[in-house]
Amino acid sequence: MKPLSFENTEIAFQSKSTKQLNKSYWLFKLVSNNTLVKVSPFLLKIAFALRLPIKGLIKQTIFEQFCGGESIDKCDKRIQSLANYNIGTILDYSVEGKSSEDDFNRVTQETIRTILKAKADDNIPFAVFKTSGLARLELLEKVSNSKVELNEEEKEEFKRVKELINSICATACKNNVRLFIDAEESWIQDAIDDIVVSMMRKYNSERAIVFNTLQMYRWDRFAYLKQSYADAENGNYFLGLKIVRGAYMEKERERAEKMGYPSPIQKDKASCDNDYNLALRFCINHIDKIALCAGTHNEQSSMLLTQLMAENNILKNDQRVYFSQLLGMSEHISFNLSKHEYNVAKYMPYGPVKDVLPYLIRRAEENTSIAGQTGRELGLIIKEKKRRA
Ligand SMILES: Cc1cc2nc3c(=O)[nH]c(=O)nc-3n(C[C@H](O)[C@H](O)[C@H](O)COP(=O)(O)OP(=O)(O)OC[C@H]3O[C@@H](n4cnc5c(N)ncnc54)[C@H](O)[C@@H]3O)c2cc1C
Repeated sequence: MKPLSFENTEIAFQSKSTKQLNKSYWLFKLVSNNTLVKVSPFLLKIAFALRLPIKGLIKQTIFEQFCGGESIDKCDKRIQSLANYNIGTILDYSVEGKSSEDDFNRVTQETIRTILKAKADDNIPFAVFKTSGLARLELLEKVSNSKVELNEEEKEEFKRVKELINSICATACKNNVRLFIDAEESWIQDAIDDIVVSMMRKYNSERAIVFNTLQMYRWDRFAYLKQSYADAENGNYFLGLKIVRGAYMEKERERAEKMGYPSPIQKDKASCDNDYNLALRFCINHIDKIALCAGTHNEQSSMLLTQLMAENNILKNDQRVYFSQLLGMSEHISFNLSKHEYNVAKYMPYGPVKDVLPYLIRRAEENTSIAGQTGRELGLIIKEKKRRA
């Protein structure tokens, strides 16, 4: 076999017929239009309010590109089509913006269903949830602020949140399904970190079941990684880590500036990349105690991880090392890695079309063209279209 290369678009798009490739081409071409993407949240809001029949259109276009289906069962076809190329699925219930306790209970039950689904299907190596889907943001923010004390009512409320999370982690542990807990905004992350660490302490004594997520766009996270490792050593548990760069950079900077505190974000992209790669290196050097997933669309970091594995004689299919990308994106990384027998899994967002719209809009925004340049995803599709022509 040829050496691993992310340039190979034939492998990247091998699962797509030319018709499907053309459909993706038009979709990415459309979302590369800045103005259209900017006004789309507004247009969609109006269209849904007027009950215009746009659900079908969204479902057949952007939803189909980035989401697995409207429910767990509806994702089966996509799970199988990835599995045909040895790519796993991570079912991500992507309903956002809910805030009542009923909603939190529903999200808990849905997350538990994804764990049971993973237990029954070898093609689903992990489950995942966001803590903000189970708790009020204001509560998480208050818990994260060491200067503020919770009142009695809030203490009870937070206890219930911890119980929900414990019920999810207990189900994951009982069924031997590994579980990611996503990282979120820095002002709620301390609360999340504390809960995740307590869950790792409880459920990771034999292997990494519960995984925390570290955002390396934060300048304090590499030190936190070393501290987490020391804690795991002392507490005699395994450290599960998903390493990402981080998704809330603008929001973080704006808030820091507005509220007058130092930004938690690295000074530039190079520092973020440097810490990301240092984190991968650290995890591989301590693989006896750490299981890691590189959640990234960055080619250099993905390639670096394969090199670090080789240097440390870690088998490509060692269950302690995974690569992960989002459904519908960076197929050149996912499919080339899986072709070379590395462990790869795609985040597969799912949920009712209307509820996953914020997720879809973020994906569209990410793929708008910068200063007239062709976006990366579009460029790869064009390259493959030319190769097939
Ligand atoms: C499987 C998976 C799971 C994920 N889970 C989470 C999660 O739990 N929490 C979360 O927050 N995000 C998560 N993400 C998103 C992730 O954090 C990134 O936003 C996204 O993947 C883009 O980063 P990249 O590593 O792919 O590569 P690149 O495209 O190389 O990097 C882009 C990223 O670099 C950082 N960056 C860009 N410019 C600068 C700058 N000037 N200074 C400092 N940093 C900069 C930002 O984080 C930006 O998103 C996940 C992504 C994947 C693929």
